[in-house]
Amino acid sequence: MIRLAVRAPAPAAEQVLAALLELAPSGVEQVDGEGWVEFAVYGAPGELPELDAGEAEVGGVRVTVSGREVSDDWAERWKRFHAPVLIRDRLYLRPPWERAAVRPGVIDLVIDPGRAFGTGAHATTRLCLELLLELAQERGRGSVCDLGCGSGVLAIAAARLGFGPVAAVDADRLAMEATAANARDNGVVIDRVERVNLRERPAPHADVVLANLMRPLLLRVAELMEHRPLALIASGLLEHEADEVAKAFRPLSERRRVSSQGWTALLLRGPPVA
Ligand code: SAH
Repeated sequence: MIRLAVRAPAPAAEQVLAALLELAPSGVEQVDGEGWVEFAVYGAPGELPELDAGEAEVGGVRVTVSGREVSDDWAERWKRFHAPVLIRDRLYLRPPWERAAVRPGVIDLVIDPGRAFGTGAHATTRLCLELLLELAQERGRGSVCDLGCGSGVLAIAAARLGFGPVAAVDADRLAMEATAANARDNGVVIDRVERVNLRERPAPHADVVLANLMRPLLLRVAELMEHRPLALIASGLLEHEADEVAKAFRPLSERRRVSSQGWTALLLRGPPVA
């Protein structure tokens, strides 16, 4: 198994990604660095896009191409995890077999990809984490509820960023176990991990709600929700679904919208308190 990496200057990353997705439509791994973005694809020799190592041009942008051999079980693992991701130079998410980040100011989070959905590598998760980092820069942290917690990645990141108490819910029993185990591995306390079917029951109340779900479930959550939170981060949306979902959570209003790889996430906030 070969990992073929294409490194591009950050400002031209979208252009390179668009060109690469034509060569590798099943998706690429993304690693963000300082001033650069690396995209990687995995495959057997001969299955990979034909790019020679060294300087090359992809999508009209000068990039650096490199290849390295990785063990075969990566084939399964990378689909679930891809690779470590560094978000906004602040959160480093990695599988247990990668070395810890040691840079000052960078929070190191370990998520075992063998467990449930949500390693940080998926664009929808990454977008949530970006918006959570923005929220964490504002004053006051408050309580958090992670709806559809999967591996617990968002809840764990929130706890590490100083939010609390933190609750996490999911309909899937495996997600309960994964969230508890991942929280333990990261030395954080998730105050409440609960099995809840969000189609049937209102989401637990919190100051900040994190919801990396998809449009139909987000609309249902909005409908059942008894009290609007102060802030809500919704992800897992296609661009054209974002307005409808933002409206469903009124009187919250849209504060920020971010997109990556065809996915969109929203930060919704309550009306300012006089
Ligand atoms: N929060 C993680 C995982 C998101 S995947 C991340 O951001 O990476 C969406 C999660 O929602 C899955 O774990 C899935 O089990 C859960 N989910 C799907 N339908 C649900 C429902 N009706 N009620 C509760 N959780 C649900």
